Amino acid sequence: MRKYKFQWDLLGDIEDGRPNLGSQVDLDVYRLLQFTMRDVLESRFGSDVTDEIFFDAGKMAGGEFYEHYIKPVESVEEFVKKTQDVLKDKRIGVLRLEESMLDQGRVVLTIDEDLDCSGLPELDYETCIYDEGFVSALFESFTSEKWRAEEIDCWCTGARTCRFLVTQEELAAAQA
Ligand SMILES: [Zn+2]
Repeated sequence: MRKYKFQWDLLGDIEDGRPNLGSQVDLDVYRLLQFTMRDVLESRFGSDVTDEIFFDAGKMAGGEFYEHYIKPVESVEEFVKKTQDVLKDKRIGVLRLEESMLDQGRVVLTIDEDLDCSGLPELDYETCIYDEGFVSALFESFTSEKWRAEEIDCWCTGARTCRFLVTQEELAAAQA
């Protein structure tokens, strides 16, 4: 018996529930939730399992996000434009495509002013694991193929943006 199985309804009726405060919340509160959760998970389960949990949660979120905010889209251009618009409207980040070779299974994209990490202190590793799962799911949902996003630059590594290499595993292997 599952206690916390995700369903979209869990997000609630925000208009009804927050007639005065509305749907916005300060970003530091979102980060407080995320980074305390990550601390507790890591101390209980270790860094690797924590990263897997964040990746999988981001992936679930990306799939749900695509279902509710992105689809239906007919073309690559429409997919990219719609995703850019929604990410900006919801103040998640500013998406740009640097290399778009969807048919060859390779895309490089950046997210400026990223919700999760923009403005964080510099570290020596990329930190946006949740986003990796999220971006992977957007491409998987659009193409119905298996994609994997890997963050190759991050605000936290001094890049001032988050850059993701997104590959469709089978196609990328065939090109190599
Ligand atoms: Zn990042």
